[in-house]
Amino acid sequence: MSAILNTYNRKKVSFKRGKGSFLYSTNGKKYLDFVQGIAVNCLGHANDYLNRAIQKQSKKVWHVSNVFTIPEQEKLAKRLKQKTFADYVSFQNSGAEATEAAIKFARRYFYSKGKPKKNRILCINNSFHGRTLATIFASNSKKLIEGFYPKVEGFDHFNFGDHKGLKKAITSRTAAIMVETILGEGGVKVIPDYCLQGLRKLCNKKKILLILDEVQCGIGRTGKFLAFEHAKIKPDIVPIAKGIGGGFPIGAVLVNKKVASCMKPGTHGSTFGGNPLAMSVGNAVIDVLFKKGFLGNVTKNGKYFQNELKKLKDKYPTVIKEVRGQGLLIGLVLYKDQADFINKLLQQKLLTVRASENVVRLLPPLNVTRKEINLALKILNNVCGNYK
Ligand SMILES: *Cc1c(COP(=O)(O)O)cnc(C)c1O
Repeated sequence: MSAILNTYNRKKVSFKRGKGSFLYSTNGKKYLDFVQGIAVNCLGHANDYLNRAIQKQSKKVWHVSNVFTIPEQEKLAKRLKQKTFADYVSFQNSGAEATEAAIKFARRYFYSKGKPKKNRILCINNSFHGRTLATIFASNSKKLIEGFYPKVEGFDHFNFGDHKGLKKAITSRTAAIMVETILGEGGVKVIPDYCLQGLRKLCNKKKILLILDEVQCGIGRTGKFLAFEHAKIKPDIVPIAKGIGGGFPIGAVLVNKKVASCMKPGTHGSTFGGNPLAMSVGNAVIDVLFKKGFLGNVTKNGKYFQNELKKLKDKYPTVIKEVRGQGLLIGLVLYKDQADFINKLLQQKLLTVRASENVVRLLPPLNVTRKEINLALKILNNVCGNYK
């Protein structure tokens, strides 16, 4: 009997080591890992470059408080500023913390403007912004909030794709619209570029802030460093996490100058956020992602993988309903039972993970090879074929 609190339907398989796209189980089997800690290990397992960076830092200093200046943190913040819309960065430890900080910053912005009642955040129903009390009520999915009332106030909602509902939901008390650029847990639902552009225009018109949660879709996953770059817009606040640590827990909030102006010493903080050990890995991830051709390769492999998956959908029209996603954030919407499909893939040594709407998510590392994609396609083809 496990002493771990029963909050996951865990699979029996355990792993003793990993290398790149592969994991090796304790009973000696080799798996192709297209979960990668749910879009976390962006450079795969046991990456040599990240290993060297963390080992080097571990011999110097692991942790110091944010009451001191941390050079590695200054460096990563400066680089994120150079590479994105951001003027300032605040480091946290996880996606939920980063998203919750984003909510705090939006509220504080209007508070500092003398509008403390302009404090409500407008979100999409059945999205995913994390598991803290505030972020579950922001996400507003039944599964997340059941049993956790009283409700954390301050969130309003509209349905994905419901433009009218969105406009209707904005009131004089709305401070910000917060959406995932691509809904990950919600079923790999891409918000089209013209809608993102529309959201930016709407926020400008209503003089409210645009928060784009890029915790899952950011950090190169779609072939751009941040997913909204495809739409050529600039949000005001962007929480990131998952990929930025390459497997080490890091969260961060990117903000523009306007938003940054409402924060001053003492208004927010974190014990662990941005410590030297974490920052050494974050900087190493940035080194690799911005190497010439790296992100272009993600785009090419993403296109190839999705095209081949669409061929598979045409070959097995009663199994696969739709192929969704952008770059290497891919979802297969199934007709067949998702859990059963995932187990069949597991039996054939391909690791995948579920999402809402009967979706199987495929999240290879960003440095996945064509050969590894082809291996995944072969296994997917076998499993689809078994349903005939
Ligand atoms: C995973 C995720 C989060 C929460 O991140 P944690 O590190 O699990 O707290 C928030 N937003 C999105 C879009 C996510 O995918």
